[in-house]
Formats: sequence, C-alpha cells, structure tokens
Amino acid sequence: MPKALEYNSTIVDRIDLTRELSIFKVRPDEPMTGPELIPGQYVTLGMNNVTHPELGSVRRPMSIVSAPQEKDSLEFYIRWVKFPESSNPLTHLLWPAKVGDRMFMRAKPVGKFTIHHTVGDDDPRQIICVAAGTGLAPFISMVRKDFLQNPSSDLSRWVILHGASYPEDLGYREELMTLQQRGLHYFPSISRPQQAPDWQGDVGRVEDFFLSDRLAKLEQQLGYAPGGLTAQRALIYICGLQGTIGETIKRSACRGFIPENRKIRRALGASEDLAPSLFFEQYDNTPVIDTQDEALMATLRQQLQNALVSA
Ligand SMILES: Cc1cc2nc3c(=O)[nH]c(=O)nc-3n(C[C@H](O)[C@H](O)[C@H](O)COP(=O)(O)OP(=O)(O)OC[C@H]3O[C@@H](n4cnc5c(N)ncnc54)[C@H](O)[C@@H]3O)c2cc1C
Repeated sequence: MPKALEYNSTIVDRIDLTRELSIFKVRPDEPMTGPELIPGQYVTLGMNNVTHPELGSVRRPMSIVSAPQEKDSLEFYIRWVKFPESSNPLTHLLWPAKVGDRMFMRAKPVGKFTIHHTVGDDDPRQIICVAAGTGLAPFISMVRKDFLQNPSSDLSRWVILHGASYPEDLGYREELMTLQQRGLHYFPSISRPQQAPDWQGDVGRVEDFFLSDRLAKLEQQLGYAPGGLTAQRALIYICGLQGTIGETIKRSACRGFIPENRKIRRALGASEDLAPSLFFEQYDNTPVIDTQDEALMATLRQQLQNALVSA
C-alpha cells in the first residue's frame, strides 16, 4: 500500500458550477518559493482514501488557473470524472471536500505548455487557444496574467475557443466576456444544443472551429483575409482530451501548423529545422493521432506540404 500523503494545504474556496464541475482554491501552508509560476504550468494534487484506506493515496496533475500575480492560493478548474480508469480516482475523493478541508499539493509549478517554453515571450503571433472542457484552465492563467499586469492592456492577441456540452459547463464565461472589452476574442461553443434551446451561440465541439467552412468564418471574425489564418500569423495551443487534440491537428495541417510532438511531426514529414506552431497539453493517455494510419498520414503530409510551399 502506498504511503499516506502528508497534507500540506487547505481548500480555501470552492465554487460548484454544476454537480460535476468545480473551481477550487488551495492554499499551501508554506508560501510558495522557487521560480515564479509561468502560465500554462501545473502542480500535483493528492488525497488519501480515508473511507477505503487499503486503496491508499492518489496524486494527479492539475493545470493552474490562477495567474502568477495571485500568490495567496492556487486555483483549479476540475471535472468529476464519471468513468475513471483507476480504482482510486482523485476526483471521487475530492468531490466531498469542502472549504477548510486539508489535502496534499506539491506547490511547485512544472510543465512546458507555456508561451515562454514553446515560442518565447517575444513571439508576436496571435495565440489561438483551443480548450475542451476543463482544458480552459491554462489559458485563463495566461490571459489573466496579461490583464493583471496592465488592466488597460490590449488582449486582442488572445483567441479563446472553448467547447463544452452545455452552456452551464462553460466555466469562466463571465470573466472572459468582460475581457472581450479589452479585445479578447472569445468563442464558446456547446455540443448538445438540443438540450439548450435558448443558446444563441456557436454549436459543435471546439475542434469544429477548424472544419473548413467554420475556419473561413473564424478567420473573417478575426480580421484575416480568406486563407490568411496560417502558422505565419498565429500559433495553436490545445488543451484537453485526445479527440479535440487529434482533430485540431488534422484540420489545421492544411494551414501549415506543425505540431511540436516529435512522433507526429515525423509522421507528417515536417523537417527538424521547421519551427513548431502547434502545441498541446493532453489530459488522457490515448494517442492523439494514429500515426500508423498510412492513408491518413499521406493526406495530412500532402496538405502540410502544400501549405508550406504556398506560405
Ligand atoms: C498536465 C495535466 C494537467 C491536468 N489538468 C487538469 C485540470 O486542470 N482539470 C481537470 O479536471 N483535469 C486535469 N487533468 C486530468 C487529471 O490529472 C486527472 O486525470 C483527472 O482528474 C482524473 O483523475 P481521476 O484520478 O479522478 O481519474 P482516473 O482514474 O485517473 O481516470 C482517468 C481518465 O479520466 C478521464 N479524464 C481525465 N481528465 C479529464 C477531464 N478533465 N475531463 C473529462 N475526463 C477526464 C480520461 O479519460 C482519463 O483517462 C490534467 C492532466 C494532466 C496530464
């Protein structure tokens, strides 16, 4: 049985958006030391199973929602997983927790899904954030950082595409709508509109923004000329589960977006000297693309080559 975790943090706030989707704020006992959080990073949260001690403890990585300027606690946007893979799922231990409860947090932010680690802080391109469900978390941190640094700054560099099943699952909607006044481009989309008859906005999964007709509309909304939304002018960052990541990679190859992932870029025939322009953080373990699917890879290789030649 794994050793019990020594709790070192307290839940200081909890907001339930739905029965399965919550925002948690967790304060470490010791103020965080070490390098400052870079938006896009994550920490490890953990709990002991006190109802079934024989199952021991569990730790899971969680993206940080809060910005580096928010030093008192770290914020998380977490989904209760209905069909977990493990016998001791963290989200099932976390869900009964309330404000004041203790838990484990390794308060040392890690991870390279950041602008800093991928293209560098000086890259001028527009940033298209593709967020499925709680995959919105790292992007809130990124945009909040810019806003808190200068509340009158122009946020038009940021494009947030957020997909969820229902309107009530669109966390942080009010915050993002407020930031639209600062130029933020925010496009929420819901995939089950049949059950939300009042919804007037975009429908479909978030990766559907990259279907050819939708992409044409999106680039028009962002002020690009037809066909102008390419890797010369924009970068794509995707966060969430395999389906969203895989489909976005497939649908954006025709615009010259080269994934950073070495295996995928090799399968796409992208030479090592070409800089990547598409980055992802994956919350599950299924391969994002079947690189053994020769027919698929041949099509994508051709699309990418055509885009690179015409760039
Ligand atoms: C770098 C990183 C950052 C992460 N950040 C977040 C975050 O900010 N918020 C968050 O809710 N989860 C996040 N996750 C997922 C998280 O680590 C756990 O996998 C998740 O909470 C389920 O853990 P569990 O122990 O309850 O279930 P497990 O028994 O471990 O079940 C895992 C399965 O749950 C499903 N799953 C995992 N995450 C999600 C999700 N977010 N929505 C729907 N289904 C999911 C997948 O099918 C996965 O295979 C992150 C994962 C990684 C690798």
